[in-house]
Amino acid sequence: MDNATIFAALKSYFKFEKFKSQLQEHAVLEICQRNHDVYVSMPTGSGKSLCYQLPAVLYDTMITIVFSPLLALIKDQVDALLALKIRAASLNSKITKTERESLIADLKSTSPNTRLLYVTPEQAATKTFKELFDNLCKFNKIAFIVVDEAHCVSEWGHDFRPDYLKLGTLRENCKVPCLALTATAGKQVTKDIISSLKLAPDHKVFKTSCFRSNLFYDVFFPNILPDPFKHLKQFIETTLQFEKEKDLQNDKKSCGIIYCRTREQTEVLASKLNSMKIKSLCYHAGLKNHERLEFQEMWQKGEVPVICATISFGMGVDKASVRFVVHWGVPKDPASFYQETGRAGRDGKPSWCRVYYNRADSKAVEFHLSQDLGKASGKEAKKLNVENAVKGFKKVLEYCENPSECRHVLFSNHFEEPPPKCKKNCDWCKDKKSVKEMVETFLIKSVQ
Ligand code: ADP
Ligand code: MG
Ligand code: ZN
Repeated sequence: MDNATIFAALKSYFKFEKFKSQLQEHAVLEICQRNHDVYVSMPTGSGKSLCYQLPAVLYDTMITIVFSPLLALIKDQVDALLALKIRAASLNSKITKTERESLIADLKSTSPNTRLLYVTPEQAATKTFKELFDNLCKFNKIAFIVVDEAHCVSEWGHDFRPDYLKLGTLRENCKVPCLALTATAGKQVTKDIISSLKLAPDHKVFKTSCFRSNLFYDVFFPNILPDPFKHLKQFIETTLQFEKEKDLQNDKKSCGIIYCRTREQTEVLASKLNSMKIKSLCYHAGLKNHERLEFQEMWQKGEVPVICATISFGMGVDKASVRFVVHWGVPKDPASFYQETGRAGRDGKPSWCRVYYNRADSKAVEFHLSQDLGKASGKEAKKLNVENAVKGFKKVLEYCENPSECRHVLFSNHFEEPPPKCKKNCDWCKDKKSVKEMVETFLIKSVQ
């Protein structure tokens, strides 16, 4: 299939002038060739659906079968496709007998009109579906087998669906390219997807790199700063540029998050900042429900630019103009640190991720971990979890107390990617001499 046809379909069927990203384009061009199984991992909102919908449309005598975990998701997709005049349908327990019969009749006809057939994993496990599937497969009518939200096959993922595990067997018996799509990039989940869905050894991977080139990472040590609070205040003022943004609407203004380990710390820090004329709120699980919602909303709307929070803050927070994320203390492990700092710079503009590291805080974390380890003795699964937490924490300690390479490598190692081209987007790559001197001063001061 040639590229011109593919680009034309993007415009004529989907009304898009161009692909959303290079990665989306490359994935679609590859998938359209129907030569390989494909694994696509891109963040939510990057347009993974198009990666199979467009190829499905181009194979216009065949059917693409899409496994998707939720009826609600399926309904949205089917409606959107129908609005674009693309024949899509869903086989589920909610449709009437007549609807089902006419759908199956179309699917079994010599030239079916249905391009995309959406199926839940539960439906996929039924005898009716298996028979239909075998029939379509036998007559070579399936263009692609798509597994959307593929992380549901993994017990390591956040929404494991046992029925997803059966999809591997189903697709194994049908020699058709299989596409697995997910937003979850974790390595264990990726391994599970590839093995469970039995993607061929020569499968192609289209994966967004974990490298966030607009985020600047650095570390400071409050105990060797003349005035740590003043230092923090200056950092906030430089990153948020209050003067420059004073005429902007509140919700367009820059803002930041400061993560603390304890409730008390969030309260102390917020009041300290307020006393220094930096408007701040605190956020933690000890607040009343309505206070939590109110504070989050005030921050979200830009009425208060800084929120001092425990790590319970951030799930579902979708604000593009977060200019900084500070860890006042120590992050927990590389994955949490990545996720927490990843809330900065969603709009792609330069943003800053800083740790103000102190030993007292890391000693407290070590103490809790050793207690957890004690409690987990004899319970194998739990013990493994705590041991992993200990390993992760050691990496973060190393990052803070004994840096020896680009800060972004903490993440590229964690996600098993090659080190990124940082181009001075961290203190180490910008000026490693100063970093080494600072660490040395910190270590000398800390043994005193
Ligand atoms: P994902 O499944 O990765 O979370 P979706 O497939 O739901 O993302 O797409 C997210 C949004 O991006 C949708 O509104 C979709 O219409 C839009 N989109 C997809 N491809 C393009 C494109 N090439 N140009 C513009 N918008 C696009
Ligand atoms: Mg999706
Ligand atoms: Zn670097």
